[in-house]
Amino acid sequence: MLDDNLRASRLTAGQRPDLQLSFEFFPPKTDAMEERFWESIQKLAPLHPRFVSVTYGAGGSTRERTLRMVSRIKSDTGVPAAAHLTCVGATRDEVDEVVRGYQAAGVSRIVALRGDPPEGVGQPFTPHPEGYQNAADLVAGIRRIGDFDISVAAYPEKHPQSADWDADIDNLKRKLDAGADRAITQMFFSNADYLRYLERARRAGVTAPIVPGIQPIHSFKQISGFAARCGASIPAWLAERFEGLEDDPETHALVAAAVAAEQVTELLDEGVTEFHFYTLNRSNLVLALARLLGRRP
Ligand code: FAD
Repeated sequence: MLDDNLRASRLTAGQRPDLQLSFEFFPPKTDAMEERFWESIQKLAPLHPRFVSVTYGAGGSTRERTLRMVSRIKSDTGVPAAAHLTCVGATRDEVDEVVRGYQAAGVSRIVALRGDPPEGVGQPFTPHPEGYQNAADLVAGIRRIGDFDISVAAYPEKHPQSADWDADIDNLKRKLDAGADRAITQMFFSNADYLRYLERARRAGVTAPIVPGIQPIHSFKQISGFAARCGASIPAWLAERFEGLEDDPETHALVAAAVAAEQVTELLDEGVTEFHFYTLNRSNLVLALARLLGRRP
């Protein structure tokens, strides 16, 4: 039975000034997708997120759409917007021009990433000969241009290309030392991985926030595919929970809500107060999770 004090502390989380939520979207490709994008933004905006971020196609494929979406989020909803940016296949000058474009549009938050080669994270990354070498180099470049709030990526299960844990944490430190304000993690489904990572980073002297990236499982099949591509593992217990639900969307949705609720409330109990949600441009599950954390419209 859940201790009453614990439940009370969860229920009052909304009054805690330190609870911070952010929501990640991807730039919609079609009119129908764009309609859903704005519908979700409108539903999530009243939750007063720290920011809503919009991803960037690795090779700059969504450059215009990302800029258009972040500019409009800011002007139409008043919610702070963050633009993702990668340095794949572009010169420093080209990337700097995108940064100046964000600046001109009044977007002062950037999620700075290296990105992956078009073949995926499994392939070695070769920087453009005149480009930024990695995310730390990109962060330093952005800092030279202006006073942006910068987030970078962190990997509770280690980035697939890091030789070992020391190399991985050293890389995180380089990004923060170059001027990033916080790290946001890759999706993970075992909270123990995140908590161990946090401990590793703190032991190495990292003091910046490392915000857990929470991926609600709207479709287990789709999320398993994403996880495999980015090196996040699907624990056996999680696969078992969704086993056989491919043709049962109602039970699938209930299990997904229970799994995500368990993940965020456990993290809250561990003292975590900042959460980044991968929304996949949907609002309902995220609205429910925010409510469990104590944040309502
Ligand atoms: P880096 O921090 O540069 O690290 C990549 C790897 O290189 C690490 O293994 C690191 O240890 C190693 N490394 C770096 N520098 C050196 C060095 N000098 N010597 C040796 N090894 C080194 N991708 C997109 O395309 N668009 C997005 O919008 C996007 N948004 C994301 C948001 C979040 C929150 C996260 C977690 C990821 C996102 N990604 C996005 C994915 C990201 O681009 C990939 O995970 C990519 O493989 C690594 O990017 P990074 O910024 O972590 O790279």
